[in-house]
Amino acid sequence: MNIALIAHDKKKDDMIRFAIAYKKILEKHFLYATGTTGKKIIEATGLKVHCFNSGPLGGDQQIGAYISDNKMDLVIFLRDPLTAQPHEPDVSALLRLSDVYSIPLATNMGTAEILLRGLEQGFLDWRNYRHN
Ligand code: PGA
Repeated sequence: MNIALIAHDKKKDDMIRFAIAYKKILEKHFLYATGTTGKKIIEATGLKVHCFNSGPLGGDQQIGAYISDNKMDLVIFLRDPLTAQPHEPDVSALLRLSDVYSIPLATNMGTAEILLRGLEQGFLDWRNYRHN
């Protein structure tokens, strides 16, 4: 599966803890991330991550393009709901595209854990049929 990992600045430490905790699951998949999030995950875990541009410089849109090309299966987007983001329209567009294409999306740690555990249990295997 192709998994996108994105964290706003105040959520980056949470994302790193998440990536460390779920490394055994994450390492079985293809990982993608916005630039700074990806760099921090690589440094902290050694996981292989394809880094797009930083979010405010177009990274969210690049992930959105992957979703619309049916190349993303799961999105973990730890959003900061208490800070205004300069690229809010890009954030909204990414959430919207996930809904358009029914891509499982977590915007907080509680849901992120359920999605990764579900992934491990095979609950997202239906995505394999969408690739054909
Ligand atoms: P970043 O982007 O990982 O490059 O910080 C995340 C975002 O703010 O969308």
